[in-house]
Amino acid sequence: MPAANRYLVSFDARTTFHRFTDVLVIGAGIAGLRAALEVPADLDVLVVTKDRVTESNSSYAQGGIAGVLSPEDRFENHVEDTLVAGDGLCDREVVEMVVREAPAQIEQLVKWGTKFDLENGALALTREGGHSHRRIVHALGDSTGFEVMRAIIATARTAPNVAIWDDTFTIDLLTHDGACVGAVVRREPLGNVLIWARQVVLASGGCGMVYRETTNPPVATGDGMAAAYRAGAELRDMEFMQFHPTVLYVAGSARYLISEAVRGEGAYLRDVNGERFMPAEDPRGELAPRDVVARAIFRTMERTQHPNVYLDLSHLDPAMVQTRFPGISKVCRSFGLDITKDRIPVRPGAHYMVGGVTVDTRGRTTLPGLWAAGEVTSSGLHGANRLASNSLLEGLVYGSLCGRGAAEAARSGPRQLAALPLRSEIGREHAGDRLDVADLTNSLRALMVRKMGIVRDRARLLEAQRDVGFWRRYALGREFDGKPGWELQNLLTVARLMIDAALRRDESRGTHFRSDFPARDDARWGQRHVTSPPALTG
Ligand SMILES: Cc1cc2nc3c(=O)[nH]c(=O)nc-3n(C[C@H](O)[C@H](O)[C@H](O)COP(=O)(O)OP(=O)(O)OC[C@H]3O[C@@H](n4cnc5c(N)ncnc54)[C@H](O)[C@@H]3O)c2cc1C
Repeated sequence: MPAANRYLVSFDARTTFHRFTDVLVIGAGIAGLRAALEVPADLDVLVVTKDRVTESNSSYAQGGIAGVLSPEDRFENHVEDTLVAGDGLCDREVVEMVVREAPAQIEQLVKWGTKFDLENGALALTREGGHSHRRIVHALGDSTGFEVMRAIIATARTAPNVAIWDDTFTIDLLTHDGACVGAVVRREPLGNVLIWARQVVLASGGCGMVYRETTNPPVATGDGMAAAYRAGAELRDMEFMQFHPTVLYVAGSARYLISEAVRGEGAYLRDVNGERFMPAEDPRGELAPRDVVARAIFRTMERTQHPNVYLDLSHLDPAMVQTRFPGISKVCRSFGLDITKDRIPVRPGAHYMVGGVTVDTRGRTTLPGLWAAGEVTSSGLHGANRLASNSLLEGLVYGSLCGRGAAEAARSGPRQLAALPLRSEIGREHAGDRLDVADLTNSLRALMVRKMGIVRDRARLLEAQRDVGFWRRYALGREFDGKPGWELQNLLTVARLMIDAALRRDESRGTHFRSDFPARDDARWGQRHVTSPPALTG
């Protein structure tokens, strides 16, 4: 079987459509559009997104954005909470920078028209797991992402220098002489298009779809991570996938997230027998960090031999519950559940990818010409575990940094904007049409839940590595002609990087729990990152 190819598709610059831009932004979530809006008006920005512009993890964010806005709170508290959640792997300099930027970023969103929820005329602040103070701004009760993205998308659409191409799939990053020079995308009816850019910002989000149970929308297939890896950029911390403890678990429902804010307002977790189990697990009870709560739920499900646990809001003021959680209430009602009275069945699901493309404090990756922001990155903010509501914030801060940095580099760089004589050829005998892509994708997602889930051990990780390696051998040498095949190839690469990293980190830290190494091992792993290997064998 052929080895993995540098590019997923064949192309020849002499016979392909071209587009030129000063800055190419891949992804139209909060990080990508924030980057685009930071580029000065005299430079062109092209934003590409593989679905409609409204389809991103950002649009589905519920709880809110963290920032020190209350006089009772201090930057030091937010820094400390982030470091505690990150379990010894955060970069303090990055944490301090991001936390201090938060108030200005939130203010900018208000200027762009975001209508955050108010209380007595001031921004209403709630509290979430792991936060010592009330510091989360939210909108439309529990649909913060929808409102924030509405305002940002509207602002970006009116920016004269920003063009948005939706339904445009980024297949690969183009590289030449060790630098990123653009991307090859599929845009119908043109077919493949080579976009040449002075600078490229990658903001393609996470990879929750690598698991069968996930809160992420279907766009989150790790395409940007895999493309960056193929292009030679370093990735790190890929063993750290955060599982959200409370995902609605009703047969036939989408895996809908029940926000942490529900526990922030006082909801209890109960087992199938009606017993609260969190107080015995952790002094912070239901407000312990996500990884602690997710593992406690996992253990409780095993102990009770029941596929889920329950969230109970019945002791809270029904009027408050309806006002604070209209979205959750509506979804639950559609399955016959009244959240003011009935217990909500929940179980953990893959939620947030902590690891990703390594970036420095300015958003630069290890590949010249390529910047990255948001969930696709590992910036050092989250360490081994993300504190709730810090990720939209990270997208805003790093989006701004990347937009600014890419604009400066585009201005000062000597490179002319011209098509380069790039070619990629994948033999015809390796056409992808004889593979059942949906079947293999489902098998991969199920395997990740079973063998690379909340609780891991060497034996199961080795099995996962073997199976994924086997699938990669026959799926990666082929050429597919559409999204499902490219997404499968990307998921296989991301999965392989995650499994390898989980095997190498033989300790437990943050979201990464090894039952064969249950303790944190600072002597060997303190402040150490697992970085991606230069080449994957298998
Ligand atoms: C249900 C849910 C609730 C959440 N709640 C919160 C919360 O309350 N607070 C918080 O801070 N965080 C929350 N998060 C996490 C947060 O939403 C994400 O981490 C954040 O939005 C990531 O932003 P991003 O811009 O990096 O990526 P995204 O918003 O996911 O955007 C990625 C973009 O890249 C595009 N893209 C991907 N692949 C390609 C490709 N091949 N070609 C072209 N385009 C591509 C996508 O179409 C999309 O436009 C939540 C996440 C989920 C799923």
